[in-house]
Amino acid sequence: KFITFEGIDGAGKSTHIAFVAEQLRARGLTVVATREPGGTELGEKLRELLLHQKMHLETEALLMFASRREHLAQVIEPALARGDWVISDRFTDASFAYQGGGRKLSLDKLDALEQWVHPHLQPDLTLLFDVPLEVARARLDAERTPDKFEQEKANFFAATRAEYLRRAAEFPARFRIIDSTRPIPEIREELRGIVAAL
Ligand code: C5P
Repeated sequence: KFITFEGIDGAGKSTHIAFVAEQLRARGLTVVATREPGGTELGEKLRELLLHQKMHLETEALLMFASRREHLAQVIEPALARGDWVISDRFTDASFAYQGGGRKLSLDKLDALEQWVHPHLQPDLTLLFDVPLEVARARLDAERTPDKFEQEKANFFAATRAEYLRRAAEFPARFRIIDSTRPIPEIREELRGIVAAL
């Protein structure tokens, strides 16, 4: 099975990925844990460029999907073919949320790229870690990068979150929205239940 983890910066998804991997491994499953952008040698080089190099919005989207194509070919598809479980920190929903919602690239173009790069594959389960902007901001200020969440970025993250929630409503069969404002033990309890049900 293929599980993806999504959410805006500061939603707390990274905290929970290791926990879910651990839960699955405890059940004797072979788990491949990976991330986007990244996940392969080329993908990690593209990640460096995507995070630090200014570029045209469409170049950014194309490189995201180029990285994804490599990730699918090298990691995700072979693992699923072996019967392993794959858990990925972000996948195509992040492109819709960040490049589409946040940066306003047309969703039709993103649809076309998705059709090109993975016309048939979708995650079996997408865990969307959701928090209001103020919570995300407080977490980023407190824990990581004080300058990361400037006022001018608030609209960007609001639009990113809105697109994630729109996708969740559009594909309710695979999405689970996790209320990530709750304490970590409570979220773990919910995740334990979700893993058991799988
Ligand atoms: O999830 P992670 O923190 O590794 O993501 C790194 C950065 O890449 C995030 O700050 C996010 O804003 C950005 N990103 C993006 N578009 C994507 C995926 C990630 O802008 N499709």
